[in-house]
Order: sequence, then structure tokens, then C-alpha cells
Amino acid sequence: MEQITRKAYAKINLGLDVLRRRPDGYHEVKMIMQTVGIYDILTFKRKEIWDGAPKIKITLQQKDAPEMTPLREELPCDKSNLIYKAAALIMKTYDIHEGVEITLQKNIPIAAGMAGGSTDAAAVFHGLNELFSLAMSLEEMKRLGVRIGADVPYCIMGGTALSEGIGEILTPLPAPPAAYLLIAKPDIHVSTKFVYENLHVDALQIHPDIDGMVDALKAGCLTGITDRMSNVLETVTVREYPVIDQIKEEMKANGACNALMSGSGPTVFGIYEGEETVKKAYEAVKAQGLARQIFVTDFVAL
Ligand code: ATP
Repeated sequence: MEQITRKAYAKINLGLDVLRRRPDGYHEVKMIMQTVGIYDILTFKRKEIWDGAPKIKITLQQKDAPEMTPLREELPCDKSNLIYKAAALIMKTYDIHEGVEITLQKNIPIAAGMAGGSTDAAAVFHGLNELFSLAMSLEEMKRLGVRIGADVPYCIMGGTALSEGIGEILTPLPAPPAAYLLIAKPDIHVSTKFVYENLHVDALQIHPDIDGMVDALKAGCLTGITDRMSNVLETVTVREYPVIDQIKEEMKANGACNALMSGSGPTVFGIYEGEETVKKAYEAVKAQGLARQIFVTDFVAL
């Protein structure tokens, strides 16, 4: 196989709880992860290497609208990119002496709480597994993947899942009933590290009913899911950026069953039952000028 193309899907958190901070600094979480229909596209090509040639080369694909191409400062294509880290780990583990050229078409908002970097890393596991015929099992990919980031094992698997531990204990769940999603990212970047560092786990007044949401997913009950949408990281991010609450309110005022911040933010998603309603809500959120990137999409079952 000389060339492979893969889609790397974004995620949202239908529910996100933090149980405690471990002595090693990691946080123990309990989250419901859900793949959504926004994706990056990665192309992998084998390359012969010669003296001075990079073993791993990442190229960012330019978009037709130049303002839609991420800036080099927000998405460096060097060794700090999670794509590079994943490729380097795999090539070292499997003793690969060839080179690989990876082209990235970035569509997922960056530093948004949608696991953009982690899902790209996950696509590298699948892509290189096929490109170099490594025969890695899903479990092996997840075991290596957690060394790149806590969300990488989930992204390798995708779909709907309960995520526990630091994110590496995963239980697949049934997909929610079909619905429309409005996803809006305000023009701010939020550092996941900042949010977790400023979270006071012991002071949290409310914990999401994640067990109840698991039951609602198993029962296929959309209201049971939307009634329980809650994210403890909002206590940090919303305090810092009130625009998140404004977007949530706008989505709810325009017919959302519920709206929530995803991950550490600042992306907000609203769940809608009707196509007309979601289209109207899209226009309303756009007219408010609160978000730079807005998408209408749906849940993806993988
Ligand atoms: P999460 O939901 O897992 O917290 P996120 O959506 O908040 O992730 P990312 O989009 O993964 O955040 O970006 C976080 C940081 O990681 C950015 O500052 C970015 O420069 C860096 N980064 C490294 N590799 C990538 C990549 N392939 N795609 C996006 N960001 C990347």
C-alpha cells in the first residue's frame, strides 16, 4: 500500500464529570464521549528516506478560502504536533526505517474541546497500521495511544462511550437516537491545561448524573440524555468567558432540547429534534455574531 486517506472525527462530551485529582496530577474523569460529523482528513504516503530527508513530514493542506487555513502559530507542523508524536512512537516501536509524508486538511476547530489533536493522532495509528501492514490490534493501538494523550484511546475507537480513569478505561455504549447538532465555537482559544489547573474538584457543588445518562442511552431515550447534559469544566471556562453562556442561551431560546460546552471548551453544542428548528437556530446564532465557526451536523456511530 503506497497511500492511504482517513477521516479523523471530532468528539463532543454529552456529560463530563471530574471525580478527583490524582497525586500524579492527572484527573480522574467520568465522561460520555460522542463522535460527531466534523472531521479532518489525513493522507499518508510512504517515502524513501535519504541523508537529510525528514523521516516524518507533515504538510498542512491550504484551503480555497485562505482565512479558513489554520495559522502556523496555532497549528505547528513540527515535532510538537500530535500527528508527529504518534507517527514517531509507532515507527520507533515497530522499527520502521522508511519515511512517511502526512498531509492534513484541518476542519476541526483548534483548542476547542473537540479533541482535534487527539483524533488526528488516532488516525495516524489506523493509517500507519494499514500503510506499513503492522497488524496492530485495536487494544495495542489504544495501549500505545494513551502515551500520546488521554483522549487518544477513545478516538482510536470512536462512537459512543463511557470514559473513565484518565480517559483510558472505555466502555462502548449504544449511539443516541438520531438528532441534529448545532456546534458553535467562539473566537477564543482555551487551553485544556489551564482549565484543569483551575478546577477545584473538592468545591464542586453539582456532579452530572453520568450513570443516569448511560441508562438513557441504553433505553434510547433522547430526553433522558438531554435532561442530564452537564459539564463540570464549565465552572472554570464559563467564568473566564461568559460568551459561552450567551451561546448556550441563544441555542436554547431557539429550540434546542439542551445546550452544553464540550470538553474544556469553548465550543458549545445544542441538540435539536427538527431540521427546520436547527436551521433557524443556526441563523440566530450567526446573526448574534458570538461564534466564529458554526456547523450543523449529527451524531456519528463508528
Ligand atoms: P481536547 O478536547 O482533547 O482537550 P482540544 O480540541 O481542546 O482537545 P486541540 O485542537 O487538540 O485541543 O489543540 C490543543 C493544542 O494542541 C493546540 O494548541 C495545538 O497547537 C496543539 N496541537 C498539536 N497537534 C495538533 C493537531 N494535530 N491538531 C490540532 N491541534 C494540535
